[in-house]
Order: sequence, then structure tokens, then C-alpha cells
Amino acid sequence: MAHCLICNSHTDRRRFGGRFFYCPDCDLHFADRSALPAPGDDAGYGADYYKRGSCLLDWMFRVFTVLEQRRILSVVKGCHRVLDIGCGSGWMAEWLQRHGAEAYGVDTSKAAIALAAGKVDPSHLRCGTLASAKFETGFFDAAVAVHVLEHVEDPVAFATEARRILREDGVLLLRIPNLASWEAKLAGERWYHFDYPFHIAHYSPRAVTRLLQTCGFRNVQISHAVTEYRQTLLYSVLSALGVPLPFWLKVSLLPLQVVFMPLACLLALLGNSGTIEVVARK
Ligand SMILES: [Zn+2]
Repeated sequence: MAHCLICNSHTDRRRFGGRFFYCPDCDLHFADRSALPAPGDDAGYGADYYKRGSCLLDWMFRVFTVLEQRRILSVVKGCHRVLDIGCGSGWMAEWLQRHGAEAYGVDTSKAAIALAAGKVDPSHLRCGTLASAKFETGFFDAAVAVHVLEHVEDPVAFATEARRILREDGVLLLRIPNLASWEAKLAGERWYHFDYPFHIAHYSPRAVTRLLQTCGFRNVQISHAVTEYRQTLLYSVLSALGVPLPFWLKVSLLPLQVVFMPLACLLALLGNSGTIEVVARK
């Protein structure tokens, strides 16, 4: 038995080999904390965590990174003070800064903050949780959290704090894996974004909408037309078939992406993308 991380109701429904609980009211899957590995230094988010992507593949998919950055910039357009929650190595904060924003970053990992300090004004960086950073109420025009929410143990506290530090009508932008997507259903625990034990809660559009509305956000908009991680559809299909994905195979499979990327775009148009973007207003 566990309490739902959003509505706090009891649930004893288990999924994914018993490692996750499921709340049908919120459509939320959340990890059984007693089964999670004990956190060590940086809780697994050391410098190696930020080097998990392959440099060659990152470079090849750079076009998607550029599209993703442009999309985020269009959402936070006109926002002066912008916080990158879970800033990691600081690539997003650096990029926002380059486009005229006063960028701030917060991350629980010391290794991440050390990497980000080479890119962003170190006085704008905080090491710790969003709550422990203690930013001033109403300080930010916008906050972005790209692939962060799925790592958060207490999403209600997280979203409540994110709302507190935004000015009235400030913007929150989240990007998260979409557990309701076809690729997630197909691959199950082998889904590219399953990423246990780093991802400890999995959301559908309904779950994240409920979370944000519970915490007082309004105008919650879900977008499936996100540009990042298009390549995961192919990987999720192969994973579902039990094919291991070493680096050399990912590189060898690049020509196949020509087929899978349009399919991923079609799924996004049909409202079934492997990751979703969520934009809400305070
Ligand atoms: Zn619930």
C-alpha cells in the first residue's frame, strides 16, 4: 500500500514487476520507494550521468537540439529572468543567456553545478533541490524543467514551489516522457525512457495536467509536437523485440531513422508522442 504522489489516496495496485504503484484516479505510476537503491554521493547523478549520451549521436541529432532550443525560446519569449530547474551541465541556461535572458540554474548534483559554472554566471547557480534553493517569491518570469519531473520524488511540493517563485502569469515549461504513448506501451519496462531507477514517476498527459491543476497552475497545454528524442521510437521498437542497443548498433541503424522519424512525427501529430511538452501559467 502506498499514497499517490498527487492525490495522496491509498493504492495497492502495482505495475512493472511490482516496482511501481499506480493511481487510477491520477493515471500516475510511481516507484515503490522501498525498492529503490539507496542514494550515494550525488545519488547516481555524478559527472558520468551527464556524459551518458554519445557525443557522435548527439552531434548527428544536433538539428533536433537546435529545433528544441528554438521551441523553448518561443515559449519563454519576452521573459527576462528564466530558471532552468535541473539544469544539469548548464547547456540550456547558457543558451538562454546567449539569447538575452538572465538565466539561473538549480540542480541537486554537485558535478552538474561544477559543469554549469563554466557556462553560466556561478552566482546564478544553486546546488540542491528547488525547495532548498529558496528563490524569492515571484522572482522568475519563466521556469523550464526539461526531463526533470520524472526524477522528482514529491511532484506536488516541486510544482507548488515552481509556482511560488514565478511572477503572476509566469510560465512553466516541462518536458517529460509520455507513458501513455504507443512506444511506451509497446516497450513496457524496456522503453527507452523507462530508465529505472533514475525515472521514479511516469506521467501521462492526464497525470501531469492533474498535478499542475492541483498545484494551482492554469491554462495547462500539452504539446505532442516536440522535436527532441525522435530517435527513441526506433530504439523502443527494437527494445520491445528484445534487441540490445550498444553504441555501434545505434550508429549502424542511423539509415533506418529515415523511416522512423516521419513515423514519430506522424504519431506526434496524432497526439501520441514518446515525450510531451507541458506549458502552464501561474
Ligand atoms: Zn492519485
